[in-house]
Amino acid sequence: MYKGYNFKFTKSLGQNFLKSDKVIGEILEGADLKADDLVIEIGPGMGALTKPAANLVRRLMAIEIDTELIPILERELSVFDNIKVINEDVLKTNVGSIIAEELSLDPEIKGVKVIGNLPYYITTPIIMKLLEEDGGIDSITIMMQKEVADRIKAEAGGKEYGSLSIAVKYYCTVTDICDVPKTMFIPQPKVDSAVLRLDLREEKAVTPKDEKLFFSCIKAAFSQRRKTLANCLSGFKGLDKNRVTEIITEAGISPGARAETLTIEDFARLADKIEESI
Ligand code: SAM
Repeated sequence: MYKGYNFKFTKSLGQNFLKSDKVIGEILEGADLKADDLVIEIGPGMGALTKPAANLVRRLMAIEIDTELIPILERELSVFDNIKVINEDVLKTNVGSIIAEELSLDPEIKGVKVIGNLPYYITTPIIMKLLEEDGGIDSITIMMQKEVADRIKAEAGGKEYGSLSIAVKYYCTVTDICDVPKTMFIPQPKVDSAVLRLDLREEKAVTPKDEKLFFSCIKAAFSQRRKTLANCLSGFKGLDKNRVTEIITEAGISPGARAETLTIEDFARLADKIEESI
């Protein structure tokens, strides 16, 4: 039983509902919602964020996978005429086409913002899907495990820095909104959380000649964090260790360096040198 409903939380769907109005206020303020915004909410649950967000914006589309929650949401949200609930898996939803349709129906919509207290079991796939889809989103304000937020924010040189930090930096600028202790949720998760806002860049942070190669080079470079860059990239795109060592040096990087010391600009230079050599 929760909020008068005969509802059982499903752990495997990452159902940790927010019970703090203060945190809800911080998320909505952090998202910088405007009266002419279209909001896409991921995982509305019982509508803790949905209702106050819908009061601030023009239109809200809420994507919820759990069929058990749909009648509850319909009841909770019945007084709103600007909310649509979509009973789907966000990872299988074409968010870009939802946005395109809403924009074509309502020319008054000016901004497109994603919000959500994310289901933690799929935090990274959701973020990467939204960034890679390039569906016209202006910003993404989301709650996630603190550990993932720390990895996203990490700068070159630290142990939290990795392919996720670089990928997010490529598409977005990152703003810290707040840290949220685990006691703010029901049921209480094992770990603390944090809210970040990701503002999509108009121009990507760097412009590698081949984006796919850039990302596969980063993935290979971080494949074994203890190894040197030359060792991790040996065999990459069929290049032997000697050739890889030369290319890394030509990119102005020490072959003995480790991936975690390379900035996004270093990786762009390195990927371009590899692209020229294959
Ligand atoms: N927004 C609510 C709140 O803050 O109280 C609920 C947040 S809860 C952490 C995550 C929500 O995402 C749950 O309602 C869960 O059912 C939903 N969810 C889980 N996996 C999903 C998926 N693949 N697609 C859409 N929603 C999903």
